[in-house]
Amino acid sequence: MNDIATAIWERLTDKALLKTRNLIGGQWRAALGGGLHPVTNPSDGSVLAHVGASGADDACAAVAAAHAAGPAWAALTAKERDAILKAWHRLIVEHRNDLGVILAAEQGKPLAEAVGEVVYGAGFVEWFAEEGKRAYGDVLPSHARGKRLVVLKQPVGVTALITPWNFPSAMITRKAGPALAAGCTVVLKPAEDTPLSALALGELALRAGVPPGVLNIVTCANPAPIGEVFTGHRLVRKLSFTGSTRVGKLLMAQCAGTVKKVSLELGGNAAFIVFDDADLDAAAAGLMACKFRNTGQTCISANRIFVQQGVMPAFIERLAAAVRRLVVGDALEAGTQQGPLINDAALQKVSSLVRDAVERGANVVVGGEMHARGGLYYQPTVLSGVSDQSRLWHEEIFGPVAAIRSFVDEEEVIVLANDTPYGLAGYFYSRDVGRAWRVAEELDVGIVGVNEGFVSTELAPFGGVKESGIGREGSKYGLEDYMETKYVCFGGLGR
Ligand code: ADP
Repeated sequence: MNDIATAIWERLTDKALLKTRNLIGGQWRAALGGGLHPVTNPSDGSVLAHVGASGADDACAAVAAAHAAGPAWAALTAKERDAILKAWHRLIVEHRNDLGVILAAEQGKPLAEAVGEVVYGAGFVEWFAEEGKRAYGDVLPSHARGKRLVVLKQPVGVTALITPWNFPSAMITRKAGPALAAGCTVVLKPAEDTPLSALALGELALRAGVPPGVLNIVTCANPAPIGEVFTGHRLVRKLSFTGSTRVGKLLMAQCAGTVKKVSLELGGNAAFIVFDDADLDAAAAGLMACKFRNTGQTCISANRIFVQQGVMPAFIERLAAAVRRLVVGDALEAGTQQGPLINDAALQKVSSLVRDAVERGANVVVGGEMHARGGLYYQPTVLSGVSDQSRLWHEEIFGPVAAIRSFVDEEEVIVLANDTPYGLAGYFYSRDVGRAWRVAEELDVGIVGVNEGFVSTELAPFGGVKESGIGREGSKYGLEDYMETKYVCFGGLGR
């Protein structure tokens, strides 16, 4: 284990959670080509470990293992799968501190937030373990005597998961939970930046009794060849992807050749609207939770903030005070509230988006520069008077930058908020109950926070409209996506 950085090695109670090889057919296997890929710690740039730089052959081996394990897993009763998945859930929660250290080290979110993600993510495993027992079919009224019409719910089959780096644990459980509960087997490719959380979840799945081949994990340096196998292989029946709209469109096109089912959770451009009848303290607190959590690197982060003219100064004052108090630091340092960005490309993007907004007339209220710590740190930033011609008005910022403009009335702001090809989340603050209903209905998105900036839970359906995606994750709607509906007609019954 001399390959693993001592910084995390020494902090782990259960060192066997640090895995670096692929999980295929229940075994930890080196990538077939022998290549390695470094995983770095964005807080300080150190190399944490080397994982396999897998290619198409590894992906094919994973698909074969998932296919072989499929019939026996699907044949278990929902209650038997529930027992195994509940054991997985228990182990994840039990090891939340170790999993949090691994996650914080490879991803950069503060340790408390990382542990929070692990527990939140585990919730999907528990919830879907239960929900698998309620994957009811139907008996329909017949159209003819001597016939009976029955609807069966059956697992889709081998399911490929491709997940992003911003929630290295929860984006996996949110997909693998319902897939496994439904009776599907899984091949998973985690993001290049954050494979260690995925492999640790794999280790706990084995300990929980998830049979060999039911959950397979392939890490990589270059995702394209693995994506081609996952989307083109005829034994893979479904792709579930969370990531950028650009890659989602590419993968959807690649899936067309074999008409795979797809679930896509893609980019967003969330509007956050503060009406003049809002509780401004609550609105500022909601925006802090929504915008600065995970250093602004979530697909439901507020991207365009609209504040009604009359309350602009009072709102900015509250927000700026809260942003100035944010403690920026190493994810594993006590007291850190905001970590680094994930990598240099992300830092350069945030920095150029802010420069562009300022060149187009935005005022820098707080921040606006690289952080004095250097590395991948950016100052928590508030910009006001942002022009809608700015790039950050149209692109996901994915960083700690609150971009604000004013609006005149409800009618205007609805048009402005909906003027985007994205439709994932939207938020607004108002104490007028009529307005609350109207605006919730009129925002063209899949998720709305009314007087609330934090909306994620395994109990509710998460997903977008327009170019933000297809399908829902979480809640009873999330299981549907991993099941086929089969109609069975019994004939010749006499009466
Ligand atoms: P982000 O911009 O958040 O990194 P991406 O869409 O690039 O979002 O990445 C999300 C996931 O998609 C990651 O697991 C990444 O490896 C994967 N990915 C990126 N490009 C491809 C591709 N061509 N084929 C398959 N997976 C891909």
